[in-house]
Amino acid sequence: INDVEHLACDVLVIGAGGAGLRAAVEARLAGKSVIVISKSLFGKAHTVMAEGGAAAAMGNVNSNDNWQVHFRDTMRGGKFLNNYRMAEIHAQEAPDRIWELETYGALFDRTADGKISQRNFGGHEYPRLAHVGDRTGLELIRTLQQKLVSLQQDDEAAGESEDKLQVIDETTITELFTDGGAVKGAFGYRRSTGRFIAIAAPAIVLATGGIGRSFKVTSNSWEYTGDGHALAMRAGAKLINMEFIQFHPTGMVWPPSVRGILVTESVRGDGGILKNSEGKRFMFDYIPEVFKAQYADNPEEADRWYTDPDTNRRPPELLPRDEVARAINSEVKAGRGTEHGGVYLDIASRRDAETIRKKLPSMYHQFKELADVDITAEPMEVGPTCHYIMGGIEVDADTTASAVAGLFAAGEVSGGMHGSNRLGGNSLSDLLVFGKRAGEYAAEHASASEPPKLTDAEIAAAAEEALRPFGNDGENPYALQNAMQAINGRLVGIIRKAGELEEALTELATLKERIANVSAGGGRAYNPGWHLALDLRNMYVCSVATAMAALERDESRGGHTREDAPGMNPEWRKVNLVASLDGEDVRLTRQAVPTMTPGLLGLFETTELSKYMTPEEYQSSSTEQE
Ligand code: FAD
Repeated sequence: INDVEHLACDVLVIGAGGAGLRAAVEARLAGKSVIVISKSLFGKAHTVMAEGGAAAAMGNVNSNDNWQVHFRDTMRGGKFLNNYRMAEIHAQEAPDRIWELETYGALFDRTADGKISQRNFGGHEYPRLAHVGDRTGLELIRTLQQKLVSLQQDDEAAGESEDKLQVIDETTITELFTDGGAVKGAFGYRRSTGRFIAIAAPAIVLATGGIGRSFKVTSNSWEYTGDGHALAMRAGAKLINMEFIQFHPTGMVWPPSVRGILVTESVRGDGGILKNSEGKRFMFDYIPEVFKAQYADNPEEADRWYTDPDTNRRPPELLPRDEVARAINSEVKAGRGTEHGGVYLDIASRRDAETIRKKLPSMYHQFKELADVDITAEPMEVGPTCHYIMGGIEVDADTTASAVAGLFAAGEVSGGMHGSNRLGGNSLSDLLVFGKRAGEYAAEHASASEPPKLTDAEIAAAAEEALRPFGNDGENPYALQNAMQAINGRLVGIIRKAGELEEALTELATLKERIANVSAGGGRAYNPGWHLALDLRNMYVCSVATAMAALERDESRGGHTREDAPGMNPEWRKVNLVASLDGEDVRLTRQAVPTMTPGLLGLFETTELSKYMTPEEYQSSSTEQE
């Protein structure tokens, strides 16, 4: 405990994905000293894996596109449970954030006339995703990293200390320090040595991404254990909408070692279709009532749409993700799945080999190398995989501030923006838009704050907690993670029921004590067992929050499907479920979803609103409009 590395800065950014890096850039541009921490190697965050692109209504490919259409699509995708103000800011600011990336050195794919090209994606009315082949996230991270380096070089040229913008990777934050309801710093350890680190900061941005590792079949990599969600709760912030988890419809299902790895939606955006084991293109059977007006009900019209989107409706393979995932699940359950329990995704019979290799280079290599499948010649086998959590830290839409003073959140760890279901491509734009705002407002908060002081006692307590697994002679962390994944996969997965959710909560409760008793052998250097032991308590509170909210919300909406409560209930549309910690226990309360302004309501037809809202809501909106 004597050997703790002490650091201080104005703005501490936890997480070096797109949201964290964009926040760091903004806070440094505002003149603040910044430290960015990442659990994995610098440059290896989820953001780097994003394939499809970033949604922004630039109107480059179809000039009918604009922020209002993007806003509408986002609200529809989220089934109107979104924080409307976040969706509005996001739709308005995304194009500027994309352009700005080019000024930082990014280079997106181009249209024939030299504009940033945009591709089709599920739920987006027009081609909207700015992309770099199917490696968009890589370009985004590369560019933001380059921007950080250029800011460091500017500092050096101006004779500023190197400490003004530091990146510390392979370091996990395990605690936030608070005082009087405000954050004042964080505690963690360097993964390679196990050495502790304590950072004093009056403003902290959480940008830690998602929770996917609580499920066995997931597109998420090892570090996504809900750390930011749990850190925020323990500091006194609230999580909203934790029941809404996105199961991406197309993960690899075979071989077992790669089960869950993502197959980008661009395959469908670029012409791929879904078929069952009988060879039937089944998505036409699964177009829900609310989407009938926008989706083709026959293959001829669906195919015409690729070249003539103005007079034809879109293919049903491009329905929002929740709809497609449920449809695949139903086909497999009905015995029409593939040999390995998925369905077929076929682009080979639809596009020539050269086009496929050019537009989907990563997918081509992924299947060739991991599954020995040539996607230009044969179909892929795919099935749903846990991909993204819509739920997260409740934040103020404009400033990204949480309920705890000085604590901000952006990117996947925050909640509200995507309502009950996120549209593909809306995450990369989300993290640019709100990452920037988080950096801006965190810097502002730091300017108005005194530099905080951390006490020896609080650092010692955090260190003791982190070392606890070494003193235990108890459970194996991997066994506990497997047990939690099994509970979540079996009872809190894509289709849920009250009885099973109750069972999940009972089973999770038995894990609580076992997790408190988790043990780690070996030393502190390079010890993944110890690291997982510390992650487990985060995964646990997130899992409990999800199961509790899923039990409470007895309707089906977006990323939450209750077999025993099918269909959306307009009364539930008005409710956010809020999870907070009461001591160590998760507490769930209800809170009203913010009511859309009349101006924004006016962007929708009353007939559409009537599918989601109570008559009082949409009638009052139409009266206000007149
Ligand atoms: P991340 O990029 O997930 O970064 C989180 C950071 O936090 C990492 O640096 C991590 O190491 C760090 N961290 C976590 N816990 C701690 C801790 N305790 N201490 C310190 N650091 C910590 N979205 C799109 O819009 N378009 C796409 O095409 C797309 N494709 C995707 C493909 C894949 C395979 C996946 C998995 C996701 C995809 N998404 C896509 C979703 C999108 O990539 C993510 O939601 C988004 O990148 C999240 O960004 P973020 O900045 O919030 O967090």
